[in-house]
Amino acid sequence: MEPRGTKREAGKTEVAEPRNKVPCPAPSLPTDPALYSGPFPFYRRPSELGCFSLDAQRQYHGDARALRYYSPPPTNGPGPNFDLRDGYPDRYQPRDEEVQERLDHLLCWLLEHRGRLEGWGENDSLEKNLGYSWGPGWLAGAIVTWRGHLTKLLTTPYERQEGWQLAASRFQGTLYLSEVETPAARAQRLARPPLLRELMYMGYKFEQYMCADKPGSSPDPSGEVNTNVAFCSVLRSRLGSHPLLFSGEVDCTDPQAPSTQPPTCYVELKTSKEMHSPGQWRSFYRHKLLKWWAQSFLPGVPNVVAGFRNPEGFVSSLKTFPTMEMFEYVRNDRDGWNPSVCMNFCAAFLSFAQSTVVQDDPRLVHLFSWEPGGPVTVSVHRDAPYAFLPIWYVEAMTQDLPSPPKTPSPK
Ligand code: GDP
Ligand code: MG
Repeated sequence: MEPRGTKREAGKTEVAEPRNKVPCPAPSLPTDPALYSGPFPFYRRPSELGCFSLDAQRQYHGDARALRYYSPPPTNGPGPNFDLRDGYPDRYQPRDEEVQERLDHLLCWLLEHRGRLEGWGENDSLEKNLGYSWGPGWLAGAIVTWRGHLTKLLTTPYERQEGWQLAASRFQGTLYLSEVETPAARAQRLARPPLLRELMYMGYKFEQYMCADKPGSSPDPSGEVNTNVAFCSVLRSRLGSHPLLFSGEVDCTDPQAPSTQPPTCYVELKTSKEMHSPGQWRSFYRHKLLKWWAQSFLPGVPNVVAGFRNPEGFVSSLKTFPTMEMFEYVRNDRDGWNPSVCMNFCAAFLSFAQSTVVQDDPRLVHLFSWEPGGPVTVSVHRDAPYAFLPIWYVEAMTQDLPSPPKTPSPK
């Protein structure tokens, strides 16, 4: 929909003509899919920089202790018969969603690794020639965020239900993006119907049926489902001219994958309603596969394994969807989605954010807000409640880097 009947180019923002009389309207970014249907933009093959884990108490550990191993039922056997409602609610320890973690765990990882990011990074000569060097100064030019926030950006041109808010701060050159729960999302979460709560549990229960704690061992569905536990991969990529550092939760790694190199060994697990009619499949391709594609394409996770549940909550069939084949299901569908639109819109938003957030100040926040049917708008804030870069992070980053070991100099 073009609100004022004027054609605007993708990525261009509405800016008033520099006339004294005309009040300068705040810049905004349109989200209409038709504006973003150009060729697929450059997206660097994501590489894993590191990882971290959150334990049952949601405590951070700079290692892979929470990584689980893909362990599907044997293909020659009877096939799955997973009761996803088993253990609910008595063996369920849900994460406290009132705790707003913002970027904290990712910043923790960044602090621990900034030496390698800033100090001694090797340079990729091709990228250096292009002006995107890896090594000293790389982080200062990068965007740091969660994968989940980028997923929401990718699906925005097609989203008709849920808006979002992203807080942005620039600090030492780096642009940090952290989601803010909208009042509507908060109200919905607090009023979440019991059936929806159980459905969320069932998604985690499926992971427990499909994953083992050690490679080669079998899943143990008798234990508790604790959603505080998470394994997160930290990745580096680039969208167009925007270097990216983001982290995403990974369900498991496949010890039998053709390549054991992350992220190509990772597997995303999903549940969905069993489908019976072509109309149900079509709707699944149009809506669910878009979300699955966006989430797994960003970190380069090659496969999504779906468990289809019947109305009684049992999974009796599995299907693997290769991430790179998901678009094929909607390629010839007028009402389908297009990966180019998703990525071009995301690139346009990142350009919009980069040019809006000019001042380098960790206490200053530009809040980008979007509701379906409208453009992305901006408001400016200082300190609480929107500032999200913690004092411990700002102070530690303001200290000099611990210097690399020096060869002893002659006295
Ligand atoms: P996703 O792609 O939406 O699953 O999110 P990410 O993989 O980017 O997760 C980033 C961090 O946010 C991880 O530590 C997750 O455990 C956490 N996280 C994921 N989803 C939610 C959520 O719905 N609520 C809260 N509070 N945290 C979440
Ligand atoms: Mg999953």
